[in-house]
Amino acid sequence: MTATQVETKQFQAETRKVLDIVINSLYTERDIFVRELISNGADALEKFRHQSLINQIEFDSHVPLEITIDCDDKKHTLTITDTGIGMTREELETNLGTIAHSGSQHFFEQLAEAAKKDVNLIGQFGVGFYSVFMAAKTVRVQTRSWDGSEGWEWSSDGGGTYTIGPCTGLHRGTKIIIELKDDAHTYASKFTLERIIQQYSTFVPFPVMVEGKKVNTVQAIWARSKAEITDEEYTEFYKFIGNAGDEPLYRLHFAADAPLAINALVYVPKDNFEVLGMGRMQPGVNLYCQKVLIDQHSESILPEWLRFLKGVVDSEDLPLNISRQSLQDNALVIKLRKVLTKRVIKFFIEEAGREVDTYGEFWKTFGIFIKEGVTSDFEHRTELAKLLRFESSESSPGSMISLDEYVGRMKKGQDKIYYINGPSRAAVEHGPYVELFKQRGIEIFYTLEPIDDFVLNHLGEYDGKKLVSADRADLSLPETTKDADQAAETKETAEPLAAAVLTSLCRWMKEMLGDRIQDVKPSSRLVDSPAMIVNVDGYMTSSMERILKASGQGEAFGMGSKKDMEINGASILIKKLAGLRESDPEFARDVVEQLYDNAMIQAGLLVDPMVMVQRNYRILTRAAGGQVDAA
Ligand code: ADP
Repeated sequence: MTATQVETKQFQAETRKVLDIVINSLYTERDIFVRELISNGADALEKFRHQSLINQIEFDSHVPLEITIDCDDKKHTLTITDTGIGMTREELETNLGTIAHSGSQHFFEQLAEAAKKDVNLIGQFGVGFYSVFMAAKTVRVQTRSWDGSEGWEWSSDGGGTYTIGPCTGLHRGTKIIIELKDDAHTYASKFTLERIIQQYSTFVPFPVMVEGKKVNTVQAIWARSKAEITDEEYTEFYKFIGNAGDEPLYRLHFAADAPLAINALVYVPKDNFEVLGMGRMQPGVNLYCQKVLIDQHSESILPEWLRFLKGVVDSEDLPLNISRQSLQDNALVIKLRKVLTKRVIKFFIEEAGREVDTYGEFWKTFGIFIKEGVTSDFEHRTELAKLLRFESSESSPGSMISLDEYVGRMKKGQDKIYYINGPSRAAVEHGPYVELFKQRGIEIFYTLEPIDDFVLNHLGEYDGKKLVSADRADLSLPETTKDADQAAETKETAEPLAAAVLTSLCRWMKEMLGDRIQDVKPSSRLVDSPAMIVNVDGYMTSSMERILKASGQGEAFGMGSKKDMEINGASILIKKLAGLRESDPEFARDVVEQLYDNAMIQAGLLVDPMVMVQRNYRILTRAAGGQVDAA
């Protein structure tokens, strides 16, 4: 290659940052660069194999599919060669000069953080190639595309620039020539390399040759029968396919013949990478046909909400030359997706019954995906509902129960499933909405996540029973035997306001609160609290309103107009208020405003804190025996 043909280029800014993080933070676990380069080589080989099955390839078709590693411990160089798909000039530049990820600051912070904590996380970020600069003084990448176009050489020392120029005499594939740093000479040792390959790259489905000797064994274990596979093999395979460093939480290996031939081996990891701040996960299951990769990170074979699964699905019924686009609406793939999804849900249902604690762990980490499924996957909604878990008035704090458990102990005459949202168990239990439930001994779910009401709202009903939020205006709880006794007690202790006085008080309060409330009504469900806010629209709960408002959608839904306030005629405060209305209307107004604000806060809705605090001081001053100046 002549000097004039060689171009020097700047790395994309993001790439420079990644290089910096990789070189400086991963220094202690440098071994993984070998794994990353071998994986890239294997990917390239897999892609070539795929091409060769659907195209008639003339160029270099005799070159065997393999990865060759040569080292020179005198010159301190390491060369990794694959006979895969290779790269054209354009590909070389895009693939090794830029980073496909969004270059957000957040991404880099997370990457730096992950790099510090666990080097295995690095693979998740797709910055594998750059790890070579942990050990390399300089790197040359010589590559020639399978299409037979001319070869190219890329070279860099991991600083700000790289060069690209033509390179003749290459075979198909990619050769990576690494000049090792002074303190990284061990990577020119065949023993070091063999150890690393055994550890990380055992499952690479192509021969990996070190100095002429094959060091890996080809193992597509999903195609073998379950009885022959050890737990260790399963775990090793998981680490390979899931780019993971730990053990999986669950694994499911199954084969089916009808309606389609399927071999599937999927895992649930221990961690949810989305909550670790790494953005939306790519689907983690790859689609194979007879061990040939058809679709990596396939978006077609499982619904989106199952993107946390890692593993492989192999079906020999699929046409090999199918494109990514046509996978989406291929009838076989749709069928495959249906079978897989049903099987995975069935598996979770079985596991939930088999090992409650492990399922609890699963729910804590991945419950959010199940909830996403309930809101987005109409076809599987009913089955998915069996997997939902919430706390309830009958569950011990911190533990959760299923809808089936709830239904199993519903009271006689009860035909609905009740729930109420709140920020914590304590907040819900001290709020007004559960008072009558407690009194009548009716179980109620505590939905403690903001998203829960949307989920149950989407679900609508379970086992033929309507799901009802306890902050609905039209709630009517079934009478229970416990209720009859207690109602008698209540009557003795608290003499409620006369109906006419209560009605007139309600009317007066409504006038004062104006548009903020649709109506003020005597409550038939409050036991201790003086007042509460209820929702007139059956489909909207206070929790949903809060979220929609926070996301700026509140106005579009015309919110703030469809609420009633209920007041408790047996509460001392309400009884006193009826008298105060005559004797000190000014002060009575403050009390009504404060009642409204308190009820809104208990519903989890916003009030104006400044106005409330001022008013609260006036009330406190009165309570302390002081005189309040008329405003
Ligand atoms: P990732 O492999 O996670 O996509 P890398 O930074 O390791 O990220 O590689 C970037 C891209 O460069 C790859 O996606 C691939 O397209 C290309 N590439 C890397 N190594 C090879 C190789 N040996 N042969 C062909 N293409 C390669």
